[in-house]
Parts: sequence; C-alpha cells; structure tokens
Amino acid sequence: MDTTEAILATYKRAPMRIVRGEGVELFDDEGNAYLDFTSGIAVNALGYGDEGLREAMHTAADGLVHVSNLYRTEPGEALARWFVEHSFADRVFFCNSGAEANEGAFKFARRWARAIGGAPKHEIVALRGAFHGRLFATLAATDRPQYRLPYRPLAGGITIAERDLRELEGMLDAETVAALIVEPVQGEGGVRVLDEGFLLELRALTRERKVALILDEIQCGLGRTGWLFAHERSGITPDLMTIAKPLAGGLPMGAILVSSEIACAVRPGDHGTTFGGGPFVAAVARYVVERLSDETLLATVRSHGAWLGDTLDAMAKRRTDIRAVRGVGLMWGLDTVQPAADIVRRARERGLLVLSAGDHTVRLLPPLTIRRDELAVGLARLEASLT
Ligand SMILES: *Cc1c(COP(=O)(O)O)cnc(C)c1O
Repeated sequence: MDTTEAILATYKRAPMRIVRGEGVELFDDEGNAYLDFTSGIAVNALGYGDEGLREAMHTAADGLVHVSNLYRTEPGEALARWFVEHSFADRVFFCNSGAEANEGAFKFARRWARAIGGAPKHEIVALRGAFHGRLFATLAATDRPQYRLPYRPLAGGITIAERDLRELEGMLDAETVAALIVEPVQGEGGVRVLDEGFLLELRALTRERKVALILDEIQCGLGRTGWLFAHERSGITPDLMTIAKPLAGGLPMGAILVSSEIACAVRPGDHGTTFGGGPFVAAVARYVVERLSDETLLATVRSHGAWLGDTLDAMAKRRTDIRAVRGVGLMWGLDTVQPAADIVRRARERGLLVLSAGDHTVRLLPPLTIRRDELAVGLARLEASLT
C-alpha cells in the first residue's frame, strides 16, 4: 500500500522520500542526493546537520519543554529581550507559525486602532501579490484566487490594493483603516522586491493617516536578504513586524514584534496561545538568531546575492526562455516561458530542488550557509532543466 494515502492530500508531494540531510544536500531512501535550493521554504537557513544547532537542541531538551504562559520562563524572556535590542520593537509576542503571527498582528493593530479611532477604524489593507497565510483572516489578505475561492466567506474588513501609491492614498482612510500589511519582498507572489522609494512613501503615508504599518518578514526576514531584517535596506521602521520560518531552526515558531505605541494598547486577556514561546523552542531560537545576525554571514549573503543577480541576468540574456529575473540576497525568482512546475520537476530529476512562486516563476531559496561553488553547481542544473 502507498503509505502517502494516509496523509490528507492538501499537497501534491514529489515522489521521493527524504531520509537524511547534510550541509545543503538532502538524500532520499534510494541514496539519491538533491542540492536544496528551497531550505524547507526558507526555514532551514542553516542547512542540514548543523553542529551548533544540534547542540543547542540537545541542551534545550535537557531543560523544560513546555510551561504555560501563565508563568514566567527565562528562555522566552531572553529571546524577547534579544529582539528588543536588535530591532525597532519594544515588546514581542511568540506564537507557532507565520499565519498565526499575522493573525495576531491584525488583532493588535485593531486593538490599537480602536483605542485611538473607535470601532469604525478596523479595516486592514494588503497588497496585490501578497501572501500572508492560509487561515481565514490571513487568507483574506492573500492575493491567490485558487486559495481563497473555496473557503468564502473569509474574514471581513480586509481588502487587497494595487501596489500603487495613488490608489493607496485613496484607500488608506484615517477614519476607517487600522493597518496596512506589506512583505518588503513578496515571496509566494513571485519574488517581488518592493522598491525602497515605495516603502518610504508607504511609511510616510501610514504615519500621516495613523494607519499601523505591519511588515510581514516571515519569508524575507532573519538574514534572507543579507540584512537581519529586510526593511533595514530601506531605512524604514514598521509599527509591527511578523517573523517565523527560520526562527527556531525548523521547530515551529512565529513572533510578532510590536512598537511601544501599539504595545500600550494591549492588555492581559487580549490574545493568547498555549504553546507560544515555550522554553524549548525559545532556547533553540535564541541560538538561531545569534547565528542569523552574524555580520560575516550577512555580508556573505549580500555578496552571494550580487553574484547570483549577475549570473542569472547573464543566463537570461543568452536564452529566450527566461522573461525576467528578480531578487535580493538568497531570495530569487525567474519568470519562465515554460510552466514553473515542469522546471521544478526536471530540476529534481537532475538533483536540484527549487520552488515555484506562481505558474511561471521559479523561486530559489538556498540555505544561507551555502558556498559559492554549491550555488554554481545548482545554477548549472537549473539551466539544464529550463527546457
Ligand atoms: C510562509 C509565509 C506565511 C505563512 O506562514 P505559515 O507558517 O505557513 O503559516 C506568511 N507570510 C509569508 C510572507 C510567508 O512566506
């Protein structure tokens, strides 16, 4: 019997069964090796079998695994303090996934907006091409009809706007809008690096209209762009920021970073989570953020990014089947003439794992610890898989 039959079919899974990982490679149960340019969708930033991560997990496992949020524990407090020291934030809420982080950010933004503007100030605006998760509110903020349509009605009071300053000037009404949520680099929506000038204008506009700016850095944050946080490139600071994917080295964890102004509006009882920020995951995450904020690692990601951009541009120039190349750091997208799903399959058959981001975009998210020669091997396999 095919044992995949017992898993609910929400994913179309590739046929091989992964049993082991080492560095930037995964191995299946037949001994085939795959260079991994997906990192478990931006989760495994340190690759596989990282010695330090393994040790951090062992040490954390010797301590408490779970203690209710009704009581204080040191690892979560230390991790929150680390984020307060390394970002705009004044307070941190821990949860268990990206979608959960965004749902919580919507709640905190509405809590604050209601305090300053009353009940009518509750609308949330997201952008064309956005992906913020698959729960009812985050799905309403996600611009993918095939994800949304089967589940209507979605959460109310959430709309999608074009990535256009004029349209946003019309939509971000100070009386009715609580928050604007933005991915500084849109991931699932095709790897779109939002223009620095556009982000600066959005920040000015949201300040003027007293609209909370939520940055979703679940995919692009924590070193992926070559900066600890993607928004550092543009010099803006948000009111709230969500992170998740690589945060706890593969353990499920999300976080909402909150400015002092938003934090002031939140009271005990306003939100909750059973598992969020438990001592085991928090201790592991404390190790991971130390690694991902290392200036040598970040500088390497930036220089890999510059090299990848040049190399992919050159590839696009000598071929007719790449329409566009976009990206930053170790987050790249190629618009392809062929369906992305076909390229993903052919690459896998050549020992390279890549992702799609829409029907005609191939997405590359290698581990942040990858070496230049490994990147070059991957790109050669990718080019051979294009047709
Ligand atoms: C993956 C992702 C999410 C959702 O995270 P989950 O942990 O899958 O719920 C939200 N926003 C962005 C930008 C993401 O890439």
